[in-house]
Amino acid sequence: MQNLNNLKQFSDSLHNSERMPLLFLGHGSPMNAIEENEFVTGFRNVAKTLPKPTAIICISAHWFTNGTKVTAMEMPQTIHDFGGFPKPLYEVQYPAKGSPELAEITQHLLEPALVELDEKWGLDHGAWSVLRHLYPNADIPVIQLSIDYTKPAQYHFDLAQKLSKLREKGILIIGSGNIVHNLRLVDFQNFHKDDYGYDWAIEARSVLNNYLLQGDFQSLIDYEKQSSAIKLAVPSPDHYLPLIYTLALKQKNEELSLFNDKLLAGSLSMTSVRIG
Ligand code: ZN
Repeated sequence: MQNLNNLKQFSDSLHNSERMPLLFLGHGSPMNAIEENEFVTGFRNVAKTLPKPTAIICISAHWFTNGTKVTAMEMPQTIHDFGGFPKPLYEVQYPAKGSPELAEITQHLLEPALVELDEKWGLDHGAWSVLRHLYPNADIPVIQLSIDYTKPAQYHFDLAQKLSKLREKGILIIGSGNIVHNLRLVDFQNFHKDDYGYDWAIEARSVLNNYLLQGDFQSLIDYEKQSSAIKLAVPSPDHYLPLIYTLALKQKNEELSLFNDKLLAGSLSMTSVRIG
């Protein structure tokens, strides 16, 4: 535990900035980390329009834990948390620094929730497969915040709002998942067919995009009460909840726009969101 003076010094060193935009990134296949395609171009393009962040907090679909944790090491390892992919994907390193100070500030902001400072995780592919396109030099410190799998969407929405202040300090908050994400039904034969979704995926994308664009976040929080198309689109909460973290931090007057808004392989969407 650092002493509070150090924390205060760090906090003071974060300059007040214009409010940093928010992102939700549809990360899709881990292969996006090393492929050239329209989605990685979309990631690069959005990064070019953002002010340079002082640090990044990433909420990844791939760190789903009992309780909430935040990575607090100086140098997070690059975690290759997948199987059966080509060797070059296992060789990718994303050597961004961590930020133990930001981890502690995050821990305090989220009180009274008990947030564990974690020394074991690092950056999983939900984080690095997209960050290496946004910030290829890995020169911005990154911490990850885990998703407590014991809690419902409303809890995550309320929890995330406590991070609001960090946006004024140049911190970029990124949710990384996929809105439509049914891995069991992926059509691998048609993985590269442009904007290809099953009927239910087309319906789910349309309904969910409308909720996003109309600002009807309560319907998005209540996704489990929605149509059978949405139940098929979100069969488990892991890839969906990072979106809830991003939405929770939207201020009333901020614009929300979509990019990379395509369906993939029948049962996935790459739809990504920028706020502010
Ligand atoms: Zn994923």
